[in-house]
Amino acid sequence: MADEVIAVSSDWAKRAYVDDAKYKAMYEASTTDPAKFWEEHGKRIDWIKPYSPSAVRDVDYNGDVRIRWFHDGVLNVSANCIDRHLSHRGDQTAIIWEGDDPSKSKKISYRELHGEVCRMANALKELGVRKGDRVTIYLPMIPEAAYAMLACTRIGAIHSVVFGGFSPDSLANRLVDCDSNVVITADEGLRAGKHVPLKANCDEALKKAPGVKKVLVVKHTGGKVGWEAGRDVWWHEIAAKVPADCAPEPMGAEDPLFILYTSGSTGKPKGVLHTTGGYIVFASMTHQYVFDYHDGDVYWCTADVGWVTGHSYILYGPLANGATTLMFEGVPNYPDSSRFWQVIDKHQVNIFYTAPTAIRALMREGEAPVKKASRASLRLLGSVGEPINPEAWLWYHRVVGDSRCPIVDTWWQTETGGILITPLPGATALKPGSATRPFFGVQPVMVDAEGNELQGACTGNLCLVNSWPGQMRTVYGDHQRFIDTYFRTYPGKYFTGDGARRDEDGYYWITGRVDDVINVSGHRIGTAEVESALVANTKVAEAAVVGFPHDIKGQGIYAYVTLKAGEHSSEELRKELVAWVRKEIGPIATPDVIQWAPGLPKTRSGKIMRRILRKIAENDFSNLGDTSTLADPTVVDDLVKHRGK
Ligand code: ATP
Ligand code: MG
Repeated sequence: MADEVIAVSSDWAKRAYVDDAKYKAMYEASTTDPAKFWEEHGKRIDWIKPYSPSAVRDVDYNGDVRIRWFHDGVLNVSANCIDRHLSHRGDQTAIIWEGDDPSKSKKISYRELHGEVCRMANALKELGVRKGDRVTIYLPMIPEAAYAMLACTRIGAIHSVVFGGFSPDSLANRLVDCDSNVVITADEGLRAGKHVPLKANCDEALKKAPGVKKVLVVKHTGGKVGWEAGRDVWWHEIAAKVPADCAPEPMGAEDPLFILYTSGSTGKPKGVLHTTGGYIVFASMTHQYVFDYHDGDVYWCTADVGWVTGHSYILYGPLANGATTLMFEGVPNYPDSSRFWQVIDKHQVNIFYTAPTAIRALMREGEAPVKKASRASLRLLGSVGEPINPEAWLWYHRVVGDSRCPIVDTWWQTETGGILITPLPGATALKPGSATRPFFGVQPVMVDAEGNELQGACTGNLCLVNSWPGQMRTVYGDHQRFIDTYFRTYPGKYFTGDGARRDEDGYYWITGRVDDVINVSGHRIGTAEVESALVANTKVAEAAVVGFPHDIKGQGIYAYVTLKAGEHSSEELRKELVAWVRKEIGPIATPDVIQWAPGLPKTRSGKIMRRILRKIAENDFSNLGDTSTLADPTVVDDLVKHRGK
């Protein structure tokens, strides 16, 4: 399909940190002698005590699995994100906050950020938090979320951010799993004008998490909240009492920085543990090179801080680089579906990073809402979270970017800490739908089901060898699960769980989770490919494809299809779509079943939960598994009711 190539413009090659030749030279250096490469690039961070050359890299993927980077170095992340910028950019805006309500926004300078973070750090100390303690953050997208995370890093507490859209049960599970005794929350959140009862959810969760002794509450909407004296503390009250200065705690490079639970697309969420030195080196380096960030740029990542993208690319990467980062409380379609583009004009955003699920949703609304805004400040676009269908890619490029902004389709995971496979805007010719080439120091390896390494152009399972500084170190409290999940399937390699195709140019095309590859009569078909074909039809808004047991073919293709607004399902349209896929991919990909789906089950981060769709396709409703991370569980009931229709 659409193997169109979009070359790097000469402007971009000139202005960017790296062009193609430099990419190749740096990549070569990073893989032939990784310790030397990272010894050099680790210096982008300020170290209280520098690491020694022999301590840069200590990795063993076998046996118990040991991953250490810069291990004798000492540093503090909040000092790197704030203090070191104060002398020359204290008055520069660190965070632009844009509220859910379009009339609300504010700018926080690096100097103001310093004061707020120090105060929050002192408040946490007052509440009894000590180095190594776990603090759970359950906040909306407000500046206090950034203060809270940075305050933890300042005093060496380990934060666990739980997305504000999660239910009391999901919050309770995460509190108990990492044994948190302090929670930071707000009275309420705001999403599309609706109030989200965070404090009430938290109160409910604490009934199942008795280990929590203190709750720090940010007053955001002023909504009514329940109160437990002795346990609950208002942030604004304690902030008025504590000093606005707090010395950063010297932390070992391998001291834990944060725990973050994966989004749970494939099962029970895992408490991914990241450590201090390697993570911040990798987050800051990838942010600079992938987004080609230069001083003065305004950068906007639309993720929530509850996801790893929010950690690495709203907060840590950008702030370590002294950037201006935009934090958005709202949603793409409130007050209307022009919101993103209006915010871009309002704050003169140069770099915009979002997810395919948002792009597809906005694509459904047509071009008019985009064209209402000028978007003239935009220079670069990014995508993350799922494979982006070529159709959506091309729309993003042509309509949002006016065919002038490169798109960086960045592949990575909570586990990887930062971006691993991605174009660099001044170096990489783009192919719509491909995450293209590995970042410095990243060595993808393709293997077949038996673990044999594949060479050249191939389709297989994506593994990584050789480690990179941002790699997770363990599953919190369960190192065995870490070994079993990532290093058992293909010994000596980190297994990503994703399938991919590598083309003749060495470009990677992520085909989805390996569980999502369907074996039809011995042919391996990536669900992403069939979905892309369906979405390329003008009547289709979204599609999810899974395999199901088939007497003759082994596995058959089952497609859930959401039509665009105004389109109606019919037997005729069903036939048309089947014929369409046959024409786009070939008869081997003919869908056996098309089910009309008014909505698809998605995680709170917007990813389609194919695990559940597989169960429905298999007619196995008894065991839908953990659905606690679903955004809207009622979608599932509808799909079950109309199965196979
Ligand atoms: P869980 O591990 O609990 O099932 P999850 O994998 O959805 O949840 P994340 O770590 O947030 O949690 O997501 C990483 C996954 O998202 C990748 O393994 C990949 O499947 C998908 N992904 C992310 N970015 C891209 C991209 N640019 N192209 C294709 N797939 C992507
Ligand atoms: Mg995963």
